[in-house]
Order: sequence, then structure tokens, then C-alpha cells
Amino acid sequence: FIWRLRKAAASNTNQENFETSLLTSSGTELSMLWNINYISDEELDEHGQFLLIGQDISSIRKTQNQLHYLAHFDSLTGAANRRLFEDRCKQSIETSKRYDSCLALLSIDIDHFKKINDTLGHDGGDDFLIELVSRFQRSVRKEDTIARLGGDEFAILLPNVSGQDGAEVVARNILESITKPVTIKGNELIITSSIGITLCPEDASSYEAMLKNADMAMYRAKNNGRKNIQFYCADRNSEMIRQIEIEKDLRVALKEQQFSLHYQPI
Ligand code: GH3
Ligand code: MG
Repeated sequence: FIWRLRKAAASNTNQENFETSLLTSSGTELSMLWNINYISDEELDEHGQFLLIGQDISSIRKTQNQLHYLAHFDSLTGAANRRLFEDRCKQSIETSKRYDSCLALLSIDIDHFKKINDTLGHDGGDDFLIELVSRFQRSVRKEDTIARLGGDEFAILLPNVSGQDGAEVVARNILESITKPVTIKGNELIITSSIGITLCPEDASSYEAMLKNADMAMYRAKNNGRKNIQFYCADRNSEMIRQIEIEKDLRVALKEQQFSLHYQPI
């Protein structure tokens, strides 16, 4: 505090603004904005005087914190949202380039999640998503970022792993912890997930490419019977893209009734 007063006295404007928290006698913590004015009039008072004005900005800070939270986190589960995840990934990619370290991106999608919604209702599905995120948190380190990218689609950033083996150990822990029975609305269920993993710098060195790679690997895990982990593999990628394209075309064709039946005599 004293150095703030000195700074105000020494500055050209004789003014200084700063923020502190303040504990009131009733135990409430307030956010205060202080304004110090140094008033010096050498003829009247050789020491000068300080005028200190404090403003309670607790409600402004609270609203700002809420807005910050909504902009960066998923309101249902408290996991990071897509925007924060992208930012963390980009930062980690830069750090990994600088220190020559390895990072991993995991793409996780729940298997047959629609069935949970259909049988236990949307709120039952929501309860499961919340439980899932707390299981993720227990399976990874504090520095790792857990994000909900959409409905039942999650991603985890491991900013510092010891290559493929390290990433696989974490992914196995996650798969194991989320496959343990969970009780929702009094029903004990076992719900599985499919996980795709990609590594930086081995597979790619940009956020966009990493996310795409991890998704590709996750789709392969789905096609492989679900409840398994797949690493991104460039060779299998082109075959995967071809299969996804065909699947997409088939969906459109079905919807638009483009199929016709032809009989062939044998
Ligand atoms: P798959 O094994 O192929 O992933 O099958 P799936 O049933 O999990 O299919 P998919 O991942 O495509 O479906 C995700 C479903 O998640 C679709 C939607 O009804 C549901 N969903 C999306 N957002 C929410 C949400 O916020 N809460 C709940 N309860 N359900 C959601
Ligand atoms: Mg799913």
C-alpha cells in the first residue's frame, strides 16, 4: 500500500488507481477500487496530503467473472468449452515446439449415448455427463485440460506426455474409470466410450490438424466395435475418409429416397 502512495506522490498526475480485496468485520470479502490523489501545496503544507477514495465494485467483478466463465466453460459440466480448449492447445503446441516436448490430444465420444437419453430422459443423460467429467478429472493431472466440444463429445489435452506409451497409459486409465458402473436415477449402468489419440509433433503440429486426427482415430475406434482406443495412423486415414464419405452419402441418399430396387434373374 505504501509504495502505491509513494508512486502517486511521485507521478506526474499525482494519481494512482488500483484494486484490492477487503475483508469486512462481518467476514464478507469485497472487491474495492481505490483512487489515490496526492495533494501537495508547498506553501500551505510541506508534507502534502493523500486523498483516498474507495469504491465497492464487488457486483461488477462478480458479473465479469460470470461472463468470463460462460465464455470459456461448459455450463452443464464445468469442463472447458471449445474456445478455451483451442486456446490451451495452441499454447501447448508452441511450448512443445520450444522445449521439444510431446503433447497428446484425446477425442472421446460416449457409445450409444442416445439410449441413455431415451431410457432415462434428458436429465438422466445430463447427470451422466456431469459424472463423466468428474471421472475424467480424477484420471488426469491438474495441468491437463478437459473440454466438452459438443453433446457427448469430449476432448482432453495432455500437454506433457512421454510419447505414445505415456499417452496410452493415460487413455487406458480414462477408459477404465469411465467404464465403471454408474448409478443414474437409481439404475446401475455400464457406459462405454471410444477414444482416439493423436500426438504432436509426430502426427501434426497444428491445432486444427490434431483435432481432425484425433476425431479420425475416434471414428476408427467406433468402427472397431466401440469401447476401445485407437491412435491416429496416417496410412489408415485415407481409407477412413473414404468410408466416412460413403456413410455420409448413404445417409443423404436414404433421406432423399434416392434408392431404387432392381430385380435380377438368376
Ligand atoms: P455412438 O456410439 O455412435 O456415439 O452413438 P450415440 O448414441 O452416442 O450417438 P451420438 O454420439 O451421435 O449422439 C449424441 C447424442 O447426445 C445426441 C443427443 O441427443 C445427445 N445430446 C446432445 N447434447 C446433449 C445434452 O446436453 N444433454 C443430453 N442429455 N444429451 C445430449
Ligand atoms: Mg456418442
